[in-house]
Formats: sequence, C-alpha cells, structure tokens
Amino acid sequence: MRPHDKRPAGSSAIYWGLLAFSLLFGVWLNSTGLGRQLDDNVYDFFFRHYQPPPWKTSSALLTIDEQTFHDFEGINHTRKALAAGLNLIRDAHPLAVAVDIILAEPGEDDDALEAAFSATQHLALPCELVGQRTGQWEDPIRRFKRHAAAVGQVYVEPGGDAISRYIELYKRTGEGAKTDRRWALALEAYRVSRGVDVVESPNELQVGDVIIPATKEASGYRMRIRYVPPSMTQIPRVSIADLARDPSLASRFAGKVVFVGVIAQTAARDRWMTPLSDSIPMAGIEMNANAYETIANRLFLTDAHEEVYFLTALMMVAAAGLIWQLTGGITAPLLSVALLALAHLFPYWLFTRGTVFPYVIAVLPAWIAITAAASWHYFYVRRRLGHSEAEKTRYQQAIHFVTHEMRTPLTAIQGSSELINRYPAMPEAKRQQINNLIVAESHRLGRMIEVFLNVERLSAGDMQLKDDQFPLPDLVDSCVGRAQPLAERKQITVVREGVPDQVLHGDRELMEYAFYNLLTNAIKYSPSETRVRVFGSGDNGRIRLSVEDQGIGMDQKEVRRIFEKFYRTRRAEQSGEAGTGIGLSIVEQIVTQHGGSIDVVSSPGKGSCFTLVLPSGKVRP
Ligand code: ADP
Repeated sequence: MRPHDKRPAGSSAIYWGLLAFSLLFGVWLNSTGLGRQLDDNVYDFFFRHYQPPPWKTSSALLTIDEQTFHDFEGINHTRKALAAGLNLIRDAHPLAVAVDIILAEPGEDDDALEAAFSATQHLALPCELVGQRTGQWEDPIRRFKRHAAAVGQVYVEPGGDAISRYIELYKRTGEGAKTDRRWALALEAYRVSRGVDVVESPNELQVGDVIIPATKEASGYRMRIRYVPPSMTQIPRVSIADLARDPSLASRFAGKVVFVGVIAQTAARDRWMTPLSDSIPMAGIEMNANAYETIANRLFLTDAHEEVYFLTALMMVAAAGLIWQLTGGITAPLLSVALLALAHLFPYWLFTRGTVFPYVIAVLPAWIAITAAASWHYFYVRRRLGHSEAEKTRYQQAIHFVTHEMRTPLTAIQGSSELINRYPAMPEAKRQQINNLIVAESHRLGRMIEVFLNVERLSAGDMQLKDDQFPLPDLVDSCVGRAQPLAERKQITVVREGVPDQVLHGDRELMEYAFYNLLTNAIKYSPSETRVRVFGSGDNGRIRLSVEDQGIGMDQKEVRRIFEKFYRTRRAEQSGEAGTGIGLSIVEQIVTQHGGSIDVVSSPGKGSCFTLVLPSGKVRP
C-alpha cells in the first residue's frame, strides 16, 4: 500500500508560511488606525482598572470658578482675581506657583497683578503657540515675564479620540538656529520648585534627582500622564472666591506647588477627556497638576520598545505553531487556551509595572496563529483520516478480490482431487483429463497470484520490470486467441485489423495482462451479436493499440473514475457481468510503468474505445 500517512511534501512550509502570515497581519493591523484605537481603548480600560498604590499629592489647585468670576466682577477682571488669590496664599509659602492663564496682552488690572507676581516666589508663567504655520510663542507681556522664574507651554495632546493621555515635555518653533523651545509648564513648575536644571539625553530627561524615561522623538519628549486615580483623594483645590471669604484656607497651599487657572465651565476653553473621565472633561490646569504629580512622584508609564513588541508577537506565533506541531489530542487546545490567556494578561501585567505594551500586538497574532494552526491541523488530520479510510476500504476490497477471483480455480482443483481420491478405479483417460484440469487451474491460480503481487509491488515502487522484446502482433494474437471462447459464448465477433509489425520492449507477461483485460472488458460490457475491433498504428516512436466495442459505454464522469481501484459503473453492475473493478487500475499501473498512457473515448449506450499508447523504444531510460 502507498505510504499515505507520510506528511505531504511542502506541507510544513505551508504551515510555517501560514504562521508567518499571522505574524505579519497582526503587526500590520497594529500599525493601522484601527489597531492604535484599540490599543488606546485597552490602555484606558487598564487605567480605570488598575489603581496604583496611593501617594501623597504635592500639588494644589487655586481655581477661578463661576463664583470667583461673580465675586470679582466678571471675566474681564480675571487678573484682579488672580492677584487677590496670589496675595492670599503668599503667607502659606507655597513651593512654587504655576499660572495657567495666558497673559499675552495688557489688561485692566495689570498693576495689581504685577505687584502680586513680583511678591511671588518661584513663579512659572504660561506661553502658547500661535500661528500654526509660522509657529510663534506668545509669551506673557514683559512686565509680567520679568518676575517669572520660568515660562512653560501649556499644551496637552489629546489623541484622535479627544482623550488626553500624554503631554509633550517640550514644544518648539522654528528650525535650526531659530529653534525656540519651551518646556511644559508642569516640568517648569517642578524645576522651579526644586531649583534644579533639566539635563537631556536621548532616552531620558533628568530634572534634579528625577529621571523621566522619555524617548526623544521628532516632536520632542512625550510623557504619559498618570492621572490621580479615583481611589485617592483628589488634588486639593480651593477657589479664589472661597479663599477670599475664608483666608485660613490658604494653609492648604503650604509647601505645595500651586497651579492657578480657570475651571469655570463657561470660561475654561482647554478642557479634555482623560482615560478616567466619565463625561466631564478635565480642565487644563488640573491636567498640568496631574503631569506634575507624575514627575514629582516618579509615576511614569513607559512605552515598550518596538523590538520588544515584535519579538513578543514572534514568540506568540512560534509558540502557537509549536503547540500544534508537537502536541496532539486535548493538549494542543489546552495549551492554546493557556497561550491566549497569557497573551491577554501579559500587557495588563506589564501595565501594573509601569510599561505600556500595545494590546493588539500581543493578542492578535496569538489569536490568528492559533486559529490558523488549529484549522490547518484539523484539515490535515481529516485528510489523513480520509486517506487511511480509503486505504482500509481498498484493503478489504483486495481481500474480497483474492477470495472471490481465486476461489474459482481453487474450487476446481479441490473438486478434481477429491474425485480422484473417491474413485480410485476411475478409467485412465478420465483420470488424465482431471489431472490436466488440476494442472491448468493451478497454473491459472499461480498466474493470478503472481499478477496481483506484481502489481502491488509495482505500485509500491519496489519491482523491476522485465525487459523482454517481442513482436506486437504476437501479443495481440495470443490475447485475441485466449478471449475467443468468451466472445463466442456471447456471439461477439472479434475483428483483428491492421497491427503494426513492431517490436515492443517491456514485461511481456504484464503487457499481455493489460491488453487481455481491455479485450475481455470489451466483450464483458457489450451485448451479444456485436463486434469488437482490435487495431493499431505506430508513428513518432509511439505505438497505439486500440480495442473498440459497441457496448454499454460510459459518460465522462464515469470515465474519469474507472482507473480507481474497485470502482465499477452503475451500468456495469447492472449488466450482470462479474467484476471487481480492479483490472483497469492494474492496467494503468502497468502502462504507466512502461512509460505509456491510456486514452478512453466512450459514450453511454454506443460503445467505448480504449487505446494503449506505448513507447516503441526501450522500457526505461
Ligand atoms: P471490472 O471489469 O472487474 O469491473 P475493471 O477495472 O476492468 O473492473 O473496469 C472498471 C470498470 O470500468 C468496469 O466495472 C466498468 O464499469 C468500466 N468499464 C471498463 N471497460 C469498459 C467497457 N469496455 N465498456 C464499458 N464500461 C467499461
């Protein structure tokens, strides 16, 4: 039997190719907008679910709310309110004061405000970028700026979904020598409060003894804000209106870095959603305070490196591939579930340790690779099962053939020998006749076994063909002669027409078997009183030998299947002719082994023509 259980050639290349595709697809999807959006959403989800250990906040908010506007005669007197607020907290000795109100134009209450600024220690004022094209910093007017220890930019960077997850630690205008960079207000507030400098290097920024792990990109250094989680009390806040009413509230600012800004819903234009906000956006001033908390408490969330993502995805895919390649049964699905669980939990575990790992790249390649590997395995196993089922049926049918076909001569031999034993006084002539029958039948049986075994060995590829040389007409005559009695029984005329007088090279016994089979089929599958024609031709180094009948014929679908072992057409079954459906498969094997082929032209009810096409030269190169 053919070794069907061997893995099909190249199957393993297809398997690993499929897995490589899963990897590339996962990596590609991660780089698309959809992938980034999913990563961000999962990041927000982690943010809400993982509460870091609480810390002691070191900032405080001095806010201008609706009440403050009301008490200080409206939005046009914001500076008056600001001056009052600064004066009220001064005695509490805040560590630094960062103002998030743009002061780029002169205003009504500037004298009062300047006086307040000049008396404020460690003051950081804001600046804003104007004109997207030209890019220019709008600083506080000179009279304010000269009292400031630092001027910082107040940008928060919302993502495409308007959720703010980062700040840029600096922003710049202009190129080359004209570059004008401004650090973020939160960073300036920290720097001023500690009286330290910012030291830059490609992978981090150092401010005093804090090292901010931020990679320098084209746009600058990006830092993820660790928003104060809901499990902690919020950053303390006092509005200027409340402070004016109760100056003792100023004690809340003692030793803190104070962020001053507008939070009134009607006036605060810089409000953004954060991963933690439900529906109310957060005011810019509070975001700056959160960014300050991130720096001051070293609560950094660092993005994993790209090589790490790629390596992780590669490992997931390789693991999926190996699981399905090396294990079977229930182990493979169980390990796959474990791998998926790992893929899902790994980014969360990293998040709890301050590393942000894109979720899609951990999870997607694992899912795709497992699905691909499992389906491949499933189809492969099914195909193998199909093959072995087919092998089993064939084996059973072969046994059937052996028992059925070979029983006839065996029964004749048995019957004859018993006769001789039972009637010892049998006349000599009769005894001789029975002896001849026994010899003939045992030869026939021997030949049948020989052919069957030869063909099995042929298909297994471990038999050498004999290299006989014999004239084609001899082969035809011998077969036609042997088939004659069969034809006569059905009153079928076998017409032998022109056969080229050429010499065939090959295994004569097998060739005879093949041609005889075609001839007997033609007789078997034809009604009586019809004609079977045998004719041949030879040209271009090919010999064509045909057997044409006027029998039951076959349609195209049937013709395509007749060389399968044990296949019989419905018409053949109904014809009442005995058969096993093995003959033609043997014929095909023999002819192919001789470097030839078989042509079949047939039409139902009209007849068939089988043609052997054989090389006239040597059997094998
Ligand atoms: P068997 O004759 O023992 O059934 P074969 O392998 O020789 O097996 O042939 C396979 C099948 O091909 C036959 O059962 C029959 O259906 C079909 N067949 C073969 N030769 C002919 C023919 N000359 N005319 C019609 N059908 C044929």
